[in-house]
Amino acid sequence: MAEDLLVVGAGVAGLALARALALRGRPWTLVERRAAPADDEGLGLNLPGNAVAALAALGLADEVLARGVRVRRREYRTASGRLLFAVDEERFWAAGHPSVCVHRGDLLEVLRAGVDGDVRWGDAVESVQGGVADARVTFASGDVGTYGLVVGADGVRSRVRGAVGAEVPRPSAMTRSSWRFVVPNPGVECWTAWSGAGGTLLLIPVDTERVYGYASSTRRGTDATGESWLRTAFAGFPATARAAVDAALDGGGALYPAPVDEVRCERWGRGRVVLVGDAVHATGPVWAQGAALALEDAVVLAGLLDGDDWSGVGDGLRRLRGERVAHVQSMTDRMSRLAGLPGLLRDVLAPVLGPRTFAATYGPLREPVA
Ligand SMILES: Cc1cc2nc3c(=O)[nH]c(=O)nc-3n(C[C@H](O)[C@H](O)[C@H](O)COP(=O)(O)OP(=O)(O)OC[C@H]3O[C@@H](n4cnc5c(N)ncnc54)[C@H](O)[C@@H]3O)c2cc1C
Repeated sequence: MAEDLLVVGAGVAGLALARALALRGRPWTLVERRAAPADDEGLGLNLPGNAVAALAALGLADEVLARGVRVRRREYRTASGRLLFAVDEERFWAAGHPSVCVHRGDLLEVLRAGVDGDVRWGDAVESVQGGVADARVTFASGDVGTYGLVVGADGVRSRVRGAVGAEVPRPSAMTRSSWRFVVPNPGVECWTAWSGAGGTLLLIPVDTERVYGYASSTRRGTDATGESWLRTAFAGFPATARAAVDAALDGGGALYPAPVDEVRCERWGRGRVVLVGDAVHATGPVWAQGAALALEDAVVLAGLLDGDDWSGVGDGLRRLRGERVAHVQSMTDRMSRLAGLPGLLRDVLAPVLGPRTFAATYGPLREPVA
């Protein structure tokens, strides 16, 4: 029936939207190309206070906080380990919700448990044709359906995006590729990033025994796709940092290469098709806002769908969300430029510009979206 609502993708955005709609009594169908819940347990996610605020709006913040490790303090260091500046995150977010680092699988599990409805696993959307009054969807299984609204929550390589506009992902301003891993904690007490000429390494405690690691080059031209890059880029870093990288390379935990692509769309929707999350604004992980913005989108879009007129939902969502997303994108570019400066200059500027940029980035995000 044409008033049905189809959500495409059971990732962070899709599951959060299903939860938000269910809380409002709005029925939906969710379709996910994977045959079963994602096997993503090996990865971590840094969820700043605004992500936890969105989870609170979904009634899920306490459960996610209970599974993760609070991010109370950040330290930005040079490649030799010298402290450039630190941020008291606990104090920064004190008036709202704290920051946390969790296993990605834990976040997805909490979101899934909060969703009771029609989830179709193991079928992919092949194409969407949006019209004024409905949208026609073709599935990989051969099924065809007509819906009153199709929500593309299908990530950075979105199929649904084709029905909205022609934007394609592009490499982030800072780097083309990265490595993510979870390994035994080599003695890291808080969110710690070390930056050198070769790259940046971030380690965050993700549970009582392990750290989530993220390693990338800070210059887009560098080919950081091979394990040999990971082995050499951090060779001169402090022993704690090296120990984590070595453990990842030696098979001491999960290790995943990941391209770092961005999407910047002029349009968020067209007719009866709308995009949320990475599908419309995948952003380099400089400020850890990918999952956060996806969660916020879900909360805001569910509110927009309260009424019965779903025409122009994409424009409505962009009106409500565009400024906040553009802010994150522009602060991502600013930090990417700082990270890409020659080492000596960066190390001189960082103690002054770093704390200011942190406050300028996250300050506006302390305003709740709902
Ligand atoms: C290296 C790296 C590190 C990151 N670190 C952080 C971090 O610390 N904090 C943070 O907040 N964010 C981080 N992010 C970003 C974050 O992971 C994403 O922004 C977030 O997962 C976006 O959620 P989403 O639901 O939009 O997309 P996804 O989580 O990608 O979900 C999309 C879903 O759609 C499904 N799908 C795709 N195509 C189809 C189709 N045709 N039919 C049906 N289903 C389909 C997929 O299988 C998937 O389940 C990081 C990203 C990268 C690359």
